[in-house]
Amino acid sequence: MSMAFSVQRTHIPGECSQIAVIGGGPTGSFFSLFALRMAKMIGREISITIFDPKDFSKDGPGGCNRCGGIISELLVQTLAVEGINLPNSVVRKGINSYTLHTDYGSVFISTPSLERTIATVYRGGGPRGIIGHEKESFDNYLLSLAIEEGAVHQPMRIDSIERKHGKPVLFSKNGHIMEADLAVGAFGVNSTAGKMFASLGFGYSEPPTVNAAIAELHMPEEVIVERFGNSIHLFLLPDRGIKFAAMIPKGSYVTLCILGRKVDAHTVQNFLNKPVVRAVLPEALGYSVACSCLPKMNIGAPKKPFTDRIVMGGDAGSTRLFKDGLGAAYIMGKSIAKTVIFEGTSREDFQKGYYPVYRGIMHDNLFGRILYTVIDQYRSFKILTRAMLKTVEIEQKRDSDDRILSTILWDMFTGNERYRNVFMKSIRPKMHIDMWEGVFRSIGRR
Ligand SMILES: Cc1cc2nc3c(=O)[nH]c(=O)nc-3n(C[C@H](O)[C@H](O)[C@H](O)COP(=O)(O)OP(=O)(O)OC[C@H]3O[C@@H](n4cnc5c(N)ncnc54)[C@H](O)[C@@H]3O)c2cc1C
Repeated sequence: MSMAFSVQRTHIPGECSQIAVIGGGPTGSFFSLFALRMAKMIGREISITIFDPKDFSKDGPGGCNRCGGIISELLVQTLAVEGINLPNSVVRKGINSYTLHTDYGSVFISTPSLERTIATVYRGGGPRGIIGHEKESFDNYLLSLAIEEGAVHQPMRIDSIERKHGKPVLFSKNGHIMEADLAVGAFGVNSTAGKMFASLGFGYSEPPTVNAAIAELHMPEEVIVERFGNSIHLFLLPDRGIKFAAMIPKGSYVTLCILGRKVDAHTVQNFLNKPVVRAVLPEALGYSVACSCLPKMNIGAPKKPFTDRIVMGGDAGSTRLFKDGLGAAYIMGKSIAKTVIFEGTSREDFQKGYYPVYRGIMHDNLFGRILYTVIDQYRSFKILTRAMLKTVEIEQKRDSDDRILSTILWDMFTGNERYRNVFMKSIRPKMHIDMWEGVFRSIGRR
């Protein structure tokens, strides 16, 4: 059965007026919102249809774009400048600190301003059977902003794409859906849509990924307030398969995220059994695992994210390594919108307008890779772990502008700074003097 659908907006002949967005996560919604705003600014009419089968108000994995739900300080502020103030109905908790746990001790790193500048959210309705369902999901909120601006949401999956007369033509499993002037791929890395675009043969390939693990731990809210406060608990352990893990408090749940190269169905339970984790979260607290999943995480960028009338952004293209993927979704969604509205939709237009932003994220991730390699050394060797803890402990007693290592760790894990800037801070001589002092003090203490 053929399922044609019509869009009631007028088109301007010769202009890019029918835009299909495949994926209604943050990248798809940011693109749509900004493209519609910019088009209005210059008096141009465009029609945007966002295809996504998910209902982001549903609880459990079905309604959720699986993620830790940390909105970086930088993104909270950038959105506020755009006039998008995250409402209380979306924010689950404001965060003002990180607590770093290692096998050799823990240390508290506060935000320099001591304000709750980081927000935690749910990407869907929340954990399966959530208590506190009255809150709204981040993805639903962004999608509703795009709809308010004029986008149309079609709750359906796109199953194949072809090119006819140079234009992308979309199909669902039931048949032809639409011929578009532009297709924006914002489908992330957790579906087979990447294969569909790769099969068009213009050079796009699915981004490389690793598995991550997420579990929602349910416990009484007062226990979370007492144990976690407004702090994200970060674990840097000498475990070869796990790069780092974070526990993110949200109302009467704590989201556990584990990132690494060897993550599988046993990872969550093995992690919860570790002594350092049990010290933070003893079984006696009576928590239960409300739901868990193993989403993929983008760790690299395809070289050709666009061709004529087709462009890929967010996780389907490039994202920030191991952090602030939502910030990257904003940057790329807006950059694609700007290119489409002010430059055009040809390969050359994307090369000129969008690619510098895309490449900027790729280059910045090179610095990120170096920094994570250094952090790997710090978590693998006891003497370095102890030195790091000692240095941070000393720094936390100093003025906020004299805390180099604390700031580096804060910026690394909050996504607050570009990796390049963090790298530049890390090569300051003062930071190395402090670290050596930490090494000697930890040896002395032993
Ligand atoms: C374990 C983990 C923890 C993370 N934690 C954080 C964090 O705390 N903070 C942060 O900033 N980032 C985090 N990220 C990264 C963040 O989740 C992503 O960068 C972000 O979701 C990318 O947004 P997107 O819109 O590009 O893709 P997605 O959020 O994946 O959205 C893609 C959308 O496309 C839809 N779709 C897919 N295929 C089709 C199709 N064929 N037809 C129609 N629709 C389709 C899907 O239903 C989905 O809604 C984390 C990632 C992982 C894996």
